[in-house]
Amino acid sequence: MTKALIMLISAASMLVLLAPVASASQGMARRGWQLGRLDEAHIMQRLEWAPRYGINEIQLSHGIMMNIDAINDSERVRRVVNDMVARAHAADPAIRVFVWAHELNYRPPDDSADVCLDPNGGGQALLQVRREAYRRALRACPEVDGVVLMFGSARLEPWSATCGCAWCRNHTPAQKAQLVIEQVKSVVVGEFKKELMVRTFIHSPEQLRWIGEALRATSGVSVMPKCVPQDWEPYYPHDETIGRVGNKEQVIEFDLAGEYWGRGALPFCMPDELQYRLQYDRDHGAVGAVGRIEDVFGTPNEVNIFAFSRLMQNPDEEVDAIWRDWVTERYGLAPGSPGSARLIACLRRTFDIGRKMYYVKGFWVFDKSSEVPETGRAPRMLEGRSIALYDPAWKGVDAELKRPTDRTLDEIAQEKSEAIWLSDLSLADLEEARANLRPRDYEDLHQRLTHQRRCAEIWRWVADAIFRYQLCKRQPSGRQRALVEGDLRQLEALAARMEADYGPLAYPGNPRRIRALVADIRSEFGASRQAAANEPPLLLQGIEAESVGPRSAVITWESGAAGDTRVEYGTALPAYGAETSAGSQMTRHHRVELTGLQPATRYYFRVKTRTADGREMVSGDFRFKTPAATAQGRKGT
Ligand SMILES: [Zn+2]
Repeated sequence: MTKALIMLISAASMLVLLAPVASASQGMARRGWQLGRLDEAHIMQRLEWAPRYGINEIQLSHGIMMNIDAINDSERVRRVVNDMVARAHAADPAIRVFVWAHELNYRPPDDSADVCLDPNGGGQALLQVRREAYRRALRACPEVDGVVLMFGSARLEPWSATCGCAWCRNHTPAQKAQLVIEQVKSVVVGEFKKELMVRTFIHSPEQLRWIGEALRATSGVSVMPKCVPQDWEPYYPHDETIGRVGNKEQVIEFDLAGEYWGRGALPFCMPDELQYRLQYDRDHGAVGAVGRIEDVFGTPNEVNIFAFSRLMQNPDEEVDAIWRDWVTERYGLAPGSPGSARLIACLRRTFDIGRKMYYVKGFWVFDKSSEVPETGRAPRMLEGRSIALYDPAWKGVDAELKRPTDRTLDEIAQEKSEAIWLSDLSLADLEEARANLRPRDYEDLHQRLTHQRRCAEIWRWVADAIFRYQLCKRQPSGRQRALVEGDLRQLEALAARMEADYGPLAYPGNPRRIRALVADIRSEFGASRQAAANEPPLLLQGIEAESVGPRSAVITWESGAAGDTRVEYGTALPAYGAETSAGSQMTRHHRVELTGLQPATRYYFRVKTRTADGREMVSGDFRFKTPAATAQGRKGT
């Protein structure tokens, strides 16, 4: 038997023990998973686990099918869908299976977007072909329960059709999307009596407005927004269509797998974030949620699947209790035991490590993947994926990142050093829990956290190199050039260490990608003979919220030199909203009590220290949640 197979079997046998779902009472009625790998054994295994997690909906997507035509064109897809639906219904008739479809799945031979949608004119033939595709597919897979329809990333997005006829000119982008929804609905709902769920996935704020408008004008469909607009980004606001699509069932889509946060190789444990999002969704009328689970089972990120199930049952459940149950069931650590508290602290922190490592001041800037970007000449993602597109409160930070200053670079260095420092804390917690852990669990966690620590170091220099290169292009100077060169040499050394310790295929933090980035910056910039190490004036460390009660919290930190003590805090980024006044005392050990807080509320804060000679450092964002007024105070993270 191969080693991989043995590992697979041991992972599977472990999972059988997990039964996160208590008896369902209230909570979300529709609880789903998305499966995206065309692999029969893999699909059937997850289907077998689904009832234990309270799952009553399955969506087949991505590697299985992105267009309804996949059923018509591929005998294998047809067979997998039919087997899958039969197995799901046999296991539990209440489980419903949906298939994914993009429209318009059509591109004219000349590749232009000059396509007519006039349903009574030039668009008739095309719309007839598209309706017929759904008829054929639903005849071939008659037991499928519904179709999830979307427009973003379709071969031809309906609002992109550029026909100049009177109908096309006189209809808005929203009306064109509505037309396509109605066409598909006439077959899926009208002829086959199945459910049509419209996914709001889009690529720009105006498209989000159009799909919202189209949905408000349509009846007889359900809606699936992501928890955030466009692609997964933990700082993004909630998708604006949530709660704003008229009286329709809404099922909210989540990524439990960290597509852009390490894809299971790095821990990204986010039960607290899931609660924050699910409570909002429930409060805005959502009746369900569906999670992406590929690449999660067998990794510590499985806590996301576990917590997702529990929170769909009751979005208000104490997240601490979910964590305690998880480490008991998965790692055999009894609640209240020293190992349990240590392991929870160790893993809970990985959400903060990941977001501080992959994002810059809340912005997604590097690459549309979990990897180091291969080009360093511009923070590419800052254009199409800026949060400011979806929440104007971020416009100031957006402008700053597009024209970074020395101060910006200091703040980025502080934020990245926080990811490294938090990684060290998690590794220390793991050592404390080691005596209570099974050796194979300890080794698995140690390998992942060490890898994460290394990546935090890589991204620290990636961030400095990319933003300092921007600064240097605007204000060329020998000193800045030497600092960029210093970053590139750090990265070359890290690429060599990654290759030595993890091999040429290391992921994330791949040595070839790191070297490509270095070469890309040098191709524009040339190598400098001088190299200098970027050492920010005054790193802040040990930033923590302690004694968090319903109405107060104590913030503490240390600074490398004596300085003043200020905390910005509030319930929304990036404005925070309140700032404590600077005490006159100059110290290295800082302590501030925040009072007048609201119970059961998530707070964000950052700390600031200015020395007597005027050097100032500002931390990245931290967060804590106040307990409900009746509960005991607890330590925040
Ligand atoms: Zn037309």
